Amino acid sequence: MTNTATTPATQQVRGACPHDCPDTCALVTTVESGVAIRVAGNPDHRHTDGALCTKVSRYAERTYHPERLLTPLKRSGPKGSGQFEPVGWDEALDDIATRLQAIAARDPQAILPYSYAGTMGQVQGEAMAARFFHRLGASLLDRTICASAGGEALVQTLGGKVGMKVEHFAQAKLILIWGSNSIGSNLHFWRLAQQAKRDGARVVCIDPRRTETADKCHDHVALRPGTDAALALALMHQLITHDWLDHDYIAQHTLGWDALRERALQWPPERAAEVCGIPVQQIVDLAQAYGTTRPAAIRLNYGMQRVRGGGNAVRAIACLPALVGAWREAAGGLLLSASGHFPVNRAALQRPDLLAGRRARTLNMSTIGDDLLRDASPEFGPQVAAVIVYNSNPVAVAPESGKVVQGFEREDLFTVVLEHFQTDTADLADYILPATTQLEHWDIHTSYGHTDVLLNRPAIAPVGQARTNTDIFRALARRMGFDDACFADDDLTLCRTAFGDAVNFQQLLDQGFATLDLPDAPFAHGGFPTASGRCEFFSARLAAQGQDGVPDHLPNFETPGSSAAFPLAMISPPARNFLNSSFVNVTSLRDIEGEPLLEIHADDATPRGIVSGQMVRVFNQRGEYRCKASVSRRARPGVVNGLGIWWRKLGPAGTNVNQVTSQRLTDMGGGPVFYDCLVEVAALPEGA
Ligand code: SF4
Repeated sequence: MTNTATTPATQQVRGACPHDCPDTCALVTTVESGVAIRVAGNPDHRHTDGALCTKVSRYAERTYHPERLLTPLKRSGPKGSGQFEPVGWDEALDDIATRLQAIAARDPQAILPYSYAGTMGQVQGEAMAARFFHRLGASLLDRTICASAGGEALVQTLGGKVGMKVEHFAQAKLILIWGSNSIGSNLHFWRLAQQAKRDGARVVCIDPRRTETADKCHDHVALRPGTDAALALALMHQLITHDWLDHDYIAQHTLGWDALRERALQWPPERAAEVCGIPVQQIVDLAQAYGTTRPAAIRLNYGMQRVRGGGNAVRAIACLPALVGAWREAAGGLLLSASGHFPVNRAALQRPDLLAGRRARTLNMSTIGDDLLRDASPEFGPQVAAVIVYNSNPVAVAPESGKVVQGFEREDLFTVVLEHFQTDTADLADYILPATTQLEHWDIHTSYGHTDVLLNRPAIAPVGQARTNTDIFRALARRMGFDDACFADDDLTLCRTAFGDAVNFQQLLDQGFATLDLPDAPFAHGGFPTASGRCEFFSARLAAQGQDGVPDHLPNFETPGSSAAFPLAMISPPARNFLNSSFVNVTSLRDIEGEPLLEIHADDATPRGIVSGQMVRVFNQRGEYRCKASVSRRARPGVVNGLGIWWRKLGPAGTNVNQVTSQRLTDMGGGPVFYDCLVEVAALPEGA
């Protein structure tokens, strides 16, 4: 396999999937005469095992998509009209730099970067961009939109985003897949679970939705959204009352057992069954399985933490393995995220020292709707005057999108969007700058689902006039007069900087990936990366913040049954062929999905006169969106599943599911509560 893109012969170039997915696959791109003709999984990378998901196997189609942005565009019509005209790079960058300089002269905090995981790469993500915004003194962005509640909960309990090595799930005898549709969003883990199943493991899915994954598990616990902590506490109750505990592990390696014990004993299965809306016996059976099967492994995912009590729920679940001593074995324990295992040198990449002592304010990306509409005030600081969006599509993905749109429509807001396509957010920009895809640039990747570092080499030259994110920020820095040496670093230097000597870079160049040297059972003898070195059932840091130091069930903000007007709980998991809002414009994938869908149980559909295939209105006090109903056993009674995340302009009536989600925040981590949302659903007359 070759690794360069400079000769006209057929080549295979190693890379990494950049998308927000725990699998972080190793790619092999076949290039003929400078054109990428095929993107496949690298068979030499054990986690990828030669297979990609349907979405990324279409990556060449996405790269050469006829709607790919090929030149810088400047707005030529009214804001939001979607009318743009091509301009040269110099003209665009000169004007952007001049406008940013004028705003910065008043207060650089009026400039807001807005980015997330459009690429997970350390270089095209927050490297040169972060340097630029730190040097500028712009507002800082709290990047909360996906995983911050669960991430913070792991930090407070285990000491970091750490856990089992994914490969060992194949040897587990009991696997709880908790809050994850692994077939759709963690495919390579699912292959390991299948292997375990073939070897006799029991596999249980815990999810309000009857997903494709739930279909293939031995048991499905279809609890109400936002009740996972109640279930976890009831499991603990049973572990205690039946003495399925590892007393030695608890004594040696945990902190706060007495307080947790007292809390768990308040949660008999009958109480939890009432809260979760599931049979008592299901809790009793699950507790027995968890208390008596070794090795027992939990694959937790982020869906269940998108509710008010999401952090507490993750904390409660993360306590379970220590109670039964599951960590003693390599195939026991829990995995939510492995990202804390990677020794990334973020200070060197992102250079927060360029703030030079300035204390820039921090805005939460999950409340962008409200924040764009806020006036200047002593508490808030300056009104947001400019937003630079890269690796994100906030108009489609941020909650309460009616307000997000209203904010981006402000005539006095200067918006620049770095993108591959003219997304909903790009429609509202003043400038759209064409960015390279993963096939066109260098990058280096951690993973949150396995423990390998991957290097991404450019396989083809940039398409059209596309430029890398790093190059765009370098060019802006030059125009802004930032002459610090770090703005001259090229992308390969940034790749080397990401890990310094902690990872063998030559191995990455030669092989494309390198495995971190970690123990197979990282907490078999305790050694958690908490301050106490123990699994912290009680968190002194949370208690000091005024929170309950011991995990508990916090009811949703919008509890089912609390509103006569909006009686249905709604969750909005991703449609199988989309990845957040990426891939929605890839025709072959959108054709598979058809159109935005709301899954609704027959018990809820029939009284509303709703039949499958009918257009419906989904609404609450925040707004409404329209989609097609699917009367389906994938929805449990009382809960509807609004599959996302469609681009607004590609769905009916120009809205999507986030029109009804709220900007309230989780108990810890300041995360959004997408799945803490009550709605009503009404049938629309034919043709409406
Ligand atoms: S989206 Fe996930 S499964 Fe698909 S190729 Fe990327 S890392 Fe692999």
